[in-house]
Amino acid sequence: MPEFHVVGEQVERFLRAEATRQENREIVRHLLAECPLCRETVQGAARRHGFKTPAQPEAPRLRMAKAG
Ligand SMILES: [Zn+2]
Repeated sequence: MPEFHVVGEQVERFLRAEATRQENREIVRHLLAECPLCRETVQGAARRHGFKTPAQPEAPRLRMAKAG
């Protein structure tokens, strides 16, 4: 279980690109660690900011083959 969790305040800064480099790294790293709790936090905040969040990973049909 991760010790660190992304808090709303950090997410807000992250989405506004106001977070420090280190914060960015920590947040991204944490999300990559697949913490569902923080993913929801970030996705909810991203929506409020009008960001498009990636759909469910299991939607490969929408991917067009863009080779080269
Ligand atoms: Zn977390």
